Amino acid sequence: MALSKYKLGCAVWEFTLACNLNCIHCGSSAGKKRDDELTTGEAFRLCEDLKKTGCMGVALMGGEPFLRKDFWEVASKIKELGMELSVITNGTIVDEEIIKKLVPLAPRAVAVSIDAATPEIHDHIRGRAGAYANSWKFIELALKHNLPVSVITTVHKLNIGELAKMREQLKGRGIAWQVQTAGSEGRRFSKDLLLDEEEFYSVGLFVESTRRNYPTDEMPVIGAHDLGFNSMMLKNTALQEKWEGCQAGISVLGVRSNGDILGCLSINDDKYVEGNARKTGVYELWNSPASFAYSRHFKPKQAGSNCASCKYLDSCKGGCNEMSLMKTGSFHNDPYCFWKIEQRLFCKELNSPFGKTMLKFRSLSGGTGFRKLAEIFKGER
Ligand code: SF4
Ligand code: SF4
Repeated sequence: MALSKYKLGCAVWEFTLACNLNCIHCGSSAGKKRDDELTTGEAFRLCEDLKKTGCMGVALMGGEPFLRKDFWEVASKIKELGMELSVITNGTIVDEEIIKKLVPLAPRAVAVSIDAATPEIHDHIRGRAGAYANSWKFIELALKHNLPVSVITTVHKLNIGELAKMREQLKGRGIAWQVQTAGSEGRRFSKDLLLDEEEFYSVGLFVESTRRNYPTDEMPVIGAHDLGFNSMMLKNTALQEKWEGCQAGISVLGVRSNGDILGCLSINDDKYVEGNARKTGVYELWNSPASFAYSRHFKPKQAGSNCASCKYLDSCKGGCNEMSLMKTGSFHNDPYCFWKIEQRLFCKELNSPFGKTMLKFRSLSGGTGFRKLAEIFKGER
């Protein structure tokens, strides 16, 4: 079999769908484990399959990954095979033994979900009283043991007002911060809570202003893939300096706890399951010329009306496919890219040569410290 030219940087693995919280925005509506989750033996085989495919790193997430009894065996297997390990947890199972067992595994990142600076708001979003206090206890223990802690915040209407207060809590603590926006895929999430276009753009502004006004060492912050791109005003909020299109099936893939393989777990639709780790396996799928066609074989004529005439289309390929699917029902048609939003928000300035120059000037002032961010951020969605 000819090997694919695509290099698998990171596999995001929903290790179990079981969860001890009931978060309103959970994209996979986690709670109960799937009936057909991979056994320990199958999980080991998946690790070997990922390694054979050339995968550099595996992020174990949930549900809540620590609820699986074989977490330690599988996490150790990932490390033994020479792949990087990241863990994404809600941080509510607070036990110093967990932290002590994580230390020798040298994870690249231990990411904890925190959605507010106000305990009541976080607990409301996460569906359990006391969740905030427990997650912060987990973070403090992880910091005490020098683990590389990051916080992931999923933004919607209930917590957008918390961002500035959260920055105050996080800065100077040696915690990296990933800001992402909520999608409507989960069953518990009301579409009314999704950010509108101005709110969405203001999250980008918040990330940018944090980068400009706080030294990277003091407050490293990135936006997730879906948080806008090709802006005239803002640097790319994700880790890469330049946005090069959706990475689903290009450098990342997602694996569900039952072995289903998708380009990205955020594209949570059975229609886009490419295969199953139990049957086809990752190596075969990744190297098959037919796989991830929507991503790998993109043609400009496939772009939807939001993107069809865009000057960035060849490199951008229509933005984040999850966002595009959620908002328009099809891929390559993301209406929430910063470029597009700016066309609407700043149409007056864009129609005047002076206004255009001013916008350009604003975008050039201020540094972003990308190289340093790349060192600090270990795992990326
Ligand atoms: S309009 Fe579409 S192709 Fe252009 S930058 Fe936005 S998402 Fe990308
Ligand atoms: S669908 Fe969006 S979040 Fe998923 S890989 Fe593509 S850009 Fe990233």
